Amino acid sequence: MANHLKEERTLVIIKPDGIQRSLIGEILRRYERLGLKLVAIKMMVPNKDHIEKHYTLDPNWRTITGEKTIASYKKKGMKPPSEDPLEITAVILENLKTYMTSGPVIVMVWKGVHAVKIVRKITGGTEPLTSDVGTIRGDFVLDSYQISDIDKRSVRNLIHASGTEDEAEKEIKHWFEENELINYRHIQEAILYDVNLDGILE
Ligand code: ATP
Ligand code: MG
Repeated sequence: MANHLKEERTLVIIKPDGIQRSLIGEILRRYERLGLKLVAIKMMVPNKDHIEKHYTLDPNWRTITGEKTIASYKKKGMKPPSEDPLEITAVILENLKTYMTSGPVIVMVWKGVHAVKIVRKITGGTEPLTSDVGTIRGDFVLDSYQISDIDKRSVRNLIHASGTEDEAEKEIKHWFEENELINYRHIQEAILYDVNLDGILE
């Protein structure tokens, strides 16, 4: 396998609700047991400016997130709060800044083949009401767009995980200095990636 495929990295943040719900260990366990390698981790309280930059690193985030919210309302036969995606995201972004700076978060970088997609799969869809059973968001939260919009707050969904490889690289640079990322060999890479499995029998 080409080496660079095993070097794929993704950024994961345990949001303030994940810390307050005592789910740090549970969340780490889910990613760790996949076989991904943890290469950076830190706890911090981010400021609002850092959060706004994080969510707007992708210039299309405002449009995509607004459209996703409108589609989700319509799929449930409900009327969205606005038909304008950008109007919806302006509110979401303000609420996100309050949510994400309300307490400590844990920021991590996980490395391994298909890290971005595998982490998103295990994390589950954005809205806990419809996240698949078995995913972290599906198993541990009961929030929805409907109740969070009524209460004028962010959906509390425990985790942020990068959406694409490109987004991941930009987000890693936004949260970490290069020297905070640790290059090391993990013993289980032998069984995950070794082509011939010729190192097991003595
Ligand atoms: P994240 O980027 O945090 O991993 P995501 O990629 O699944 O989540 P985005 O569409 O990027 O979701 O939205 C970012 C975050 O904004 C969501 O995780 C959620 O906390 C909040 N959010 C998104 N849409 C809404 C909404 N319609 N109402 C309230 N909060 C929302
Ligand atoms: Mg996102």
